[in-house]
Amino acid sequence: MDLRKTKYGRFMNERVPSEKRYQPTEYEHAANCATHALWIIPSILGSSLLYFLSDDQWETITAWMYGCGLSSLFTMSTVFHTVSWKKSHLRTVEQLFHMCDRITIYFFIAASYAPWLNLRELGPWAWHMRWMVWIMACVGTVYVFLFHERYKIIELIFYTAMAALPALVILSMRDRDGLFELAMGGVFYSLGTVFFKSDGLIPFAHAIWHLFVAMGAGTHYYAIWRYLYMPGPSQMKTSR
Ligand SMILES: [Zn+2]
Repeated sequence: MDLRKTKYGRFMNERVPSEKRYQPTEYEHAANCATHALWIIPSILGSSLLYFLSDDQWETITAWMYGCGLSSLFTMSTVFHTVSWKKSHLRTVEQLFHMCDRITIYFFIAASYAPWLNLRELGPWAWHMRWMVWIMACVGTVYVFLFHERYKIIELIFYTAMAALPALVILSMRDRDGLFELAMGGVFYSLGTVFFKSDGLIPFAHAIWHLFVAMGAGTHYYAIWRYLYMPGPSQMKTSR
């Protein structure tokens, strides 16, 4: 431990037991803020592009849903990391923002699936996933209010279930364009969780996790733009 501390002093603090929250160094705090702040403007611009490419009401509404989810993820995360960096006497405020950050992630997952679920033709039972993802996000929100940070394993199961269940529905779609990119995005998120769990083991682990999130979100954005919104021969419009 001591060896590592002298070696990485400014770049990493000591690992804490799983029930406690890791305290990043000043450098790590700055990196945590920067790695998500960077994507706020691009996510707003990208969402606006989808809005302007919409040709019907469903596409417009979906662009709003997805755009709000995407830009609020990066905004909320940046706000939370800034507050937790500059906390000093703002302990409860930090806790509140941490809860908001967690809630935003549930809605971000639902929003990421919304374009595929809303704009592609789905089977008679698969159709229900359109509203079920939002119910799952609400259940996650209630969970955060009741048990925030108390049972981390349940939280992890919730996030994984929310990420995996709609994917099963999407895999059953007849139109399979974009599935490769969707899976690639999933791979980025999954690889990122290794770093998410490595605070105090790898310097800047949380900032690296942020970069994986940005890559996952970027890959998914590209697929949504290309296969669901971009006009042209590659786009297969389906009747809804
Ligand atoms: Zn973060």
